[in-house]
Amino acid sequence: MLCLLNRQKEGATLKLIATDLDGTLLNSRKEISKENITAIKYAESKGIKVIIATGRSYFDAHSISKRAGISTYIIGSNGASIHTPLGEQISSAPMDKEDVQDIIHCLEDYNFYYEVYTNKGIYTFPDKKEILHFELTKASPGNPQLDISLLQKDLETLSAQFGYFSVDNYRNIFERDEKYYKIFTLSFDEAKRKAGIDYFINMPHLSLVSSGDYNFEISSQHASKGNSLEKLSSILDISPEDVMAIGDSYNDVSMLKTAGYSVAMGNANDDIKGICDIITDTNDQNGVADAIYRFVDLYKNVG
Ligand code: CA
Repeated sequence: MLCLLNRQKEGATLKLIATDLDGTLLNSRKEISKENITAIKYAESKGIKVIIATGRSYFDAHSISKRAGISTYIIGSNGASIHTPLGEQISSAPMDKEDVQDIIHCLEDYNFYYEVYTNKGIYTFPDKKEILHFELTKASPGNPQLDISLLQKDLETLSAQFGYFSVDNYRNIFERDEKYYKIFTLSFDEAKRKAGIDYFINMPHLSLVSSGDYNFEISSQHASKGNSLEKLSSILDISPEDVMAIGDSYNDVSMLKTAGYSVAMGNANDDIKGICDIITDTNDQNGVADAIYRFVDLYKNVG
C-alpha cells in the first residue's frame, strides 16, 4: 500500500470503481458473493459509483448483476457497448459486417468453435461443440491439466450465458439487422489457437484480446474496456485518476492502464500482476471486496 500513498495526487479521491466479472467479481461458481455485494453497496453509500466492465454481453452481465441486486453502468463485450443502469445504450463500437463475414469464413475454414456477440444476442451453431470435444480428446494425453471436467466447465459457462441462441447456419446471422460486437473463439488445440491469434492480430480495423487460457476474442479496433472506461468517466465527469479498475486477464489491460488505481486479482497471472498497483485476494476469497474496503477507506470521497 505504500506505493499507492506515494503516488496519490493532491486532492485525488476515489469516485468510480470498474470491475471485471469472470475471475474477478464472480467466484468460481460464477456468482457474486454476499461479501462482494455488501462491499459494492458500502462503496455506493460513500458516493462512489461501481460499474461492471466485462467481456460478456450486456444482456448476460445485466442478468448476473440483477440477480445480485446490483444496478450499475455496464461496459459489455470487451468495451463494444456501454449501457446505463436503466438499460439505455449510450455508446457502441461495432465491427463492420464485411469484416465479420471475413472472420467467420476464416474460422469456418479452419474449423474453430466460435460465438458471435451482437446487440440482439449471442449466436452459436449446433455442430461447433463437437470441435471442442475432438480437440480435447486429441490434446489431453500430453496435457494433464486438460481434462474432461475442464471442458464441461467451459461448456457449462458458455451455455449458461443469458441471450445465448443456437442458429442453424452462420449465414443466417448476416440476414439480420444487427450490430456485431465481438467474435469469441475457444480452442484446446494450442497450435491452432496460436495460428488464429497470429493471423487475426494483424487484421486491419480489428483488435484481439484474450480473457482466458484457451480463447481469443475479436472486436472493432475502437472497442476496448479502456476506451469505454475513459468514455464513461468523461460522461460522468470523473477524471481517470479518480478511477480504480480491478481485473484478472489480458482483456483488462487497457482499463488497468487507464485507471488511476489498478488492482490485480490474486488469481491473475504474473503479467497482469506486474502492471498493477496492488494485488488483492483471489476471486474465491472475495478479492473485490478486499480491494474496495482498502481503497474506499483510504480515499474517502468528499463529493
Ligand atoms: Ca476476467
